[in-house]
Amino acid sequence: MIRDTLADTLEEIALLLELKGENPFKIRAYRGGADTVRQFAGDIVAKAKEGDLKGIKGIGDALQQKLHELASTGKLEYYENLRAEFPESLFELFKIQGLGPKKIKALYESLNVDSVAKLKEVCESGAVAELSGFGKKTAEKVLEAIAFRESNADRFRLGDVAEPVEMILEALRSHPKCLRVEAAGSFRRAKETVHDVDFLVATSKPKELTEFFAGQDWVRKVIVQGDTKASVYLENGLQCDLRAVSNDEFACALAYFTGSKEHNVAMRGRANDRGYTLNEYRLAPREGSDSEEAPVFQSEEELYAFLDMDFVAPELRENTGEIEAAAENELPRLVELENLRGTFHNHTVASDGKNTLEEMAAAAMELGLQYLGIADHSKSSFQANGLDEKRLRAQIEEIGALNAGYQEGGQNFRIFAGNEVDILKDGSLDFDDDLLGELDYVVASVHNAMTQKEAEMTKRLIKAVSNPNVTMLGHLSGRLLLRREPYEVDIPAVIEACADTGTIIELNCNPWRLDMDWRWWKLAKEKGVKCSINPDAHATGQLDYLWFGAKLARKGWLTRKDVFNTLPLGEVEEFLNC
Ligand SMILES: [Zn+2]
Ligand SMILES: [Zn+2]
Repeated sequence: MIRDTLADTLEEIALLLELKGENPFKIRAYRGGADTVRQFAGDIVAKAKEGDLKGIKGIGDALQQKLHELASTGKLEYYENLRAEFPESLFELFKIQGLGPKKIKALYESLNVDSVAKLKEVCESGAVAELSGFGKKTAEKVLEAIAFRESNADRFRLGDVAEPVEMILEALRSHPKCLRVEAAGSFRRAKETVHDVDFLVATSKPKELTEFFAGQDWVRKVIVQGDTKASVYLENGLQCDLRAVSNDEFACALAYFTGSKEHNVAMRGRANDRGYTLNEYRLAPREGSDSEEAPVFQSEEELYAFLDMDFVAPELRENTGEIEAAAENELPRLVELENLRGTFHNHTVASDGKNTLEEMAAAAMELGLQYLGIADHSKSSFQANGLDEKRLRAQIEEIGALNAGYQEGGQNFRIFAGNEVDILKDGSLDFDDDLLGELDYVVASVHNAMTQKEAEMTKRLIKAVSNPNVTMLGHLSGRLLLRREPYEVDIPAVIEACADTGTIIELNCNPWRLDMDWRWWKLAKEKGVKCSINPDAHATGQLDYLWFGAKLARKGWLTRKDVFNTLPLGEVEEFLNC
């Protein structure tokens, strides 16, 4: 049982109640409960198991009982009964972008739409376009969303798999016959989405390990289970594969199963040039070559060294120049999570966050950070309770008072007063320059009119970053992984403009975004554009997203010097001139 299962179940109950046309207050209670579970700072699963949820704001008596039943038994009768009232295939519809419960209800009741296949049919036939509240545009949008969904089927966001992976690693580590264990594959390379996760153990008792792995209670279904290999599905549908190898094989196997394919091909080429063949278990002398013994490697570092290369960090293994750089001793020293001294772009209860300024600051201090940049929404983002001029000025004052308190207390900590100002349709900003000038820093982001043509959107972003008050550009492409495509924008042109104007580009490390995409950082770095790793946290627990940020920055070849928020407080103050 993991946190996501608890939250997702409450969320689904809310959907089902909405589909049934139930009381909105009840629906809101479940939806709010799901948010609370997701953002709770602490082990909510253990608390639910023990029935120890009293006093947690946002989880009433009814929800407490249900969470306890679900966490302690793995099942929830209320939920299963609700689900049974609808055909199973109806639930696929919830995964289609742009289809909320109200639309699904209308489709279900008037056109008997109870599956994605049926939905496609009625969109194509024109029946949807005629339904009241829909129209031709909606039908087209839905068809696009179905196509997007189909092309991303069976993929998971890195953020959705990190917690289950940690849980599985811990379980495997606890096995007495497990000598070493790693999660390999695209997860280890920090790809923004993954198809499955590969685990690798070193052991002298492979069969015991595969049995143990397939027998865990978080396994929903065993796909295959053999002497050295097992594949299973978790509750959330994620496929996990385990391979058991000997301790001597572990290093080569880890390199092989980490990939990428392209990186491995290049590695095999280097082995071949030296008279060896490299496969998933070992490096062996090629038939007829002079050397006779297969070397044993205790670590990947030894394998790379044998092929006359520096160790290549897993995040870089995409064959985009790392092989050559490792051979030439020219790999950059990548930034690490521990290098971050603070972070920007975070929300509070003033807009759509869950925690107060003080709570966010305390959480940042707890993480050992020296500064926290607040950037609540601006007035045009009314759906996110954006601040108007008056409320923003009040917040600046509140931050000033808190900072005075930290100073008096002798704490080396500061809150930076900022704002996530909306970039309006024409590239102008949601606040005038006077107010922006009163802030310590400004993040500029697009939150509406995302369907503009590429030329228009590019012009819009370039105009925004050309405003000298804009410190950094927020979530550059607007993508939501597996949910919404990035908007059309000429990224190299925007990078160029940021270089010209000295604007920082954000690496938004909310796992839904991971935006700007890692593939563009090399170019940004070449142009001298700095990166700021920002969690876009809407709750204290989300400051942990920095973990993803560090991984993706590494994947983009960034060093400590390239990342703005590795600077200590004093240097950031100097840069921001505040
Ligand atoms: Zn935003
Ligand atoms: Zn934000």
